[in-house]
Amino acid sequence: MRGLANAVTRSRSGTELLTLVRPEIRALLGYQPIEPSEVLAERLGIPPDRVVKLDGNENPYGPSPRVVDALARFDGYHRYPDPEQRRLREALAEYAGVGPEHVVAGAGSDEIIDLLVRATIALGDGVIDCPPTFGMYGFSTRLAGGRAIEVARRDDFSLDIDAVRAASGGAKLIFVASPNNPTGQLLGRDELDALLATGLIVVVDEAYIEFAGESFAALVPQRENLVVLRTFSKWAGLAGLRAGYGVMPPALAQVLMRIKPPYTPNIAAEVAMLASLEGRELLEERVQAIVAERERMAQALAALEFLEVYPSQANFVFARVGGRDAGELRDGLAKRGVFVRHFDTPRLRDCLRISAGLPGDTDRLIEALRELGGDRGR
Ligand code: PMP
Repeated sequence: MRGLANAVTRSRSGTELLTLVRPEIRALLGYQPIEPSEVLAERLGIPPDRVVKLDGNENPYGPSPRVVDALARFDGYHRYPDPEQRRLREALAEYAGVGPEHVVAGAGSDEIIDLLVRATIALGDGVIDCPPTFGMYGFSTRLAGGRAIEVARRDDFSLDIDAVRAASGGAKLIFVASPNNPTGQLLGRDELDALLATGLIVVVDEAYIEFAGESFAALVPQRENLVVLRTFSKWAGLAGLRAGYGVMPPALAQVLMRIKPPYTPNIAAEVAMLASLEGRELLEERVQAIVAERERMAQALAALEFLEVYPSQANFVFARVGGRDAGELRDGLAKRGVFVRHFDTPRLRDCLRISAGLPGDTDRLIEALRELGGDRGR
């Protein structure tokens, strides 16, 4: 205690102050988030409404008008949200096809990922993920002092179930995104059963499932070790409000409810989630429009001779760039106001992930790619 008191009362330089930070945290590389439209627009010197933002897998239609209306009319912003999330868990449970005792809501599914890791992982415990995949699994694991065990996907980006099984001895958790970000494919039922048979906690992250089809959420009550993560960021257009949830065995839900900060998600996110669920028709129509746009974009991209497009079940397309540098292509598009995602990792260096936007966004993307020399008459 005395040491700590000394440390905080003595004046320190920034470098000295850092000696108080956990060494593994000092060495940790931050998660690489995407940047807001205003920042991108300012960098380019163009108005923000000229930015075609296809780098964040966001919903270009925004929230439903019901949500906007409910937020405008809500009169309880000065009160804390219900820490037991009673109404919210009921509504989410009904949507997911389970009982409310299975549900925990959070500030985005990012928070549920973090809570699951913090509830289970002590220093040196293993967490399996299957790259290329969403970066938060490894990030939360390292933050908790756990060991990220990376079981690479095969060349076609399918899961290597045998390798997962072989690695599972030293682990407690497995994270699999379905559809996977950034590659777009679904986890099969046989693959899920094989993962569950390892006895580890299997977390299926269904952030994009509304664009794909059947969720595994309703299976959770019948399995001891299955957790399904869902979010309102994609299908419901609430990414900025941070609104996600997990469906899990009740015993684990109780643990998460005990360790989570008491008032997440915030009250605006709660109001918005409830209003989204009450009026789903328009949101579902928009999901269908996004799926149609994904397919139109996939076809248009596949017609460019330097792109190989992978089938995707999510709200984005994943493509391999041939005969040119994918990072330079990303930069060329950005100069034309079109932002797509490039990951500078050995396996993804020659690939791009492009979110499905509005029809006009796809047109701008294709036009920019043609300008960049892609249209060679195919
Ligand atoms: N899981 C996956 C696979 C994702 O791609 C994302 C968002 N990019 C998330 C979770 C995070 O979702 P949320 O906004 O609910 O935190």
